Amino acid sequence: MKLVLASNNAKKLAELRTILSGAGVSLLSAREAGFTDEIDETGTSFAENACIKAQTVCRATGLPAVGDDSGLCVDALGGAPGVYSARYTGSHDDSDEARYRLLLKNLEGETARAARFVCAVCCAMPDGTLLTASGACEGEILTAPRGTGGFGYDPVFRPLGFDRSMAELSAEEKNAISHRGRALAQFQRELENYCHAHK
Ligand code: IMP
Repeated sequence: MKLVLASNNAKKLAELRTILSGAGVSLLSAREAGFTDEIDETGTSFAENACIKAQTVCRATGLPAVGDDSGLCVDALGGAPGVYSARYTGSHDDSDEARYRLLLKNLEGETARAARFVCAVCCAMPDGTLLTASGACEGEILTAPRGTGGFGYDPVFRPLGFDRSMAELSAEEKNAISHRGRALAQFQRELENYCHAHK
């Protein structure tokens, strides 16, 4: 089945492609499907934003579209940056490094560093059906960045049970435990049920 990812984030697209490759899904970026508009993430939850992205791209392209909305929630910051993870510094245009440096600064001297990555996935079908799934990955915020893999806040996040940052894990290790890997495992089951019911 051909799905459009309602995003042009190349790293996210690569992770989704790898994770969904076994499910017989071929994933196009929004740009590859001819969609280049910016989507306003006006929702107040990951799930709401994932559905806004998926429905916008599905309506515009006529193809099934997947929205992934994800971010990092830090307990000591009352759940921030949360749905604002991509614009924590105030601008989408700042670098991932600028965002995690700000996070480290805001946690300076803080010993309670529990946090989790959260991912909501929504797939909008041209018949109006919405398939939804979510996943989380528990861990803590390090005091300095480590590693060069992954993207976003990976260098400053240590997943529970590991002595390495998320950016020090291989792609396989990250996908096996990540919020996105978990959400997509659930999504694959939803997609199989949908395809079975619409044969
Ligand atoms: P979105 O494109 O609005 O979903 O933005 C999600 C933001 O959350 C990204 O820009 C990253 O800063 C962060 N994020 C989401 N998933 C990950 C991940 O797997 N690793 C590190 N940061 C992530």
